[in-house]
Amino acid sequence: MKQRARVVVIEDESAVRAGVGAALEAEGLAVSVFADYVDIETIEAGMPDLIVLDVGLPGGDGFELAGRLRARRDVPIVFLTARDAVTDRLAGFQIGADDYLVKPFAIEELLARIRVVLRRAGRHTEPIEAGDVLVDEHAGLAFRNGQPLGLTPTELRLLAFFVRHRGLVLSKTQLLSQVWGYDAYDPNVVEVHVSALRHKLEENGPRVVETVRGLGYRLVVR
Ligand code: CA
Repeated sequence: MKQRARVVVIEDESAVRAGVGAALEAEGLAVSVFADYVDIETIEAGMPDLIVLDVGLPGGDGFELAGRLRARRDVPIVFLTARDAVTDRLAGFQIGADDYLVKPFAIEELLARIRVVLRRAGRHTEPIEAGDVLVDEHAGLAFRNGQPLGLTPTELRLLAFFVRHRGLVLSKTQLLSQVWGYDAYDPNVVEVHVSALRHKLEENGPRVVETVRGLGYRLVVR
């Protein structure tokens, strides 16, 4: 279950290739880099979750390679290119590019785009755990003792936040701003959702979301 997303980078400029490869590895992704147009079988053998593909390669055109890859498997592709003509962008998107970055670009910008593409493809990061609770945000699923909890999207985000901050007392204001993302203070929203979440969690074990009187809630791992 804890499998890292795999990214293939095909880029002939060594500085860009090294920089992108190192940044992606630092993100916890499994990275394979190629300096030139490689055959489809080599790429496919790595079963990539995403391909970062330069358009101008010594051995061939990245657009053409992308077209052939897409004909075999619906793998997300982010193009890197020095070409910024509108017709090139259109060609990229017609092939089904998931994103398109024109050089020079900031590595942080590339990382942000890659996170979005992987998330959209449902192929991102590892599930998070606290005791017998496991949350897989990208699959939109949560489990307790291996039993699926059937949470709503909001309950899932709330539980993920508790898991990331296990052991800490979290105020309703904090939960509102971090989980719901707005500042209007309506403690009922939090109370209603915590209550529903507890109900689902406690079908499969004792209480783990405790009330800390006057302060908020705390996920306690036993
Ligand atoms: Ca190039």
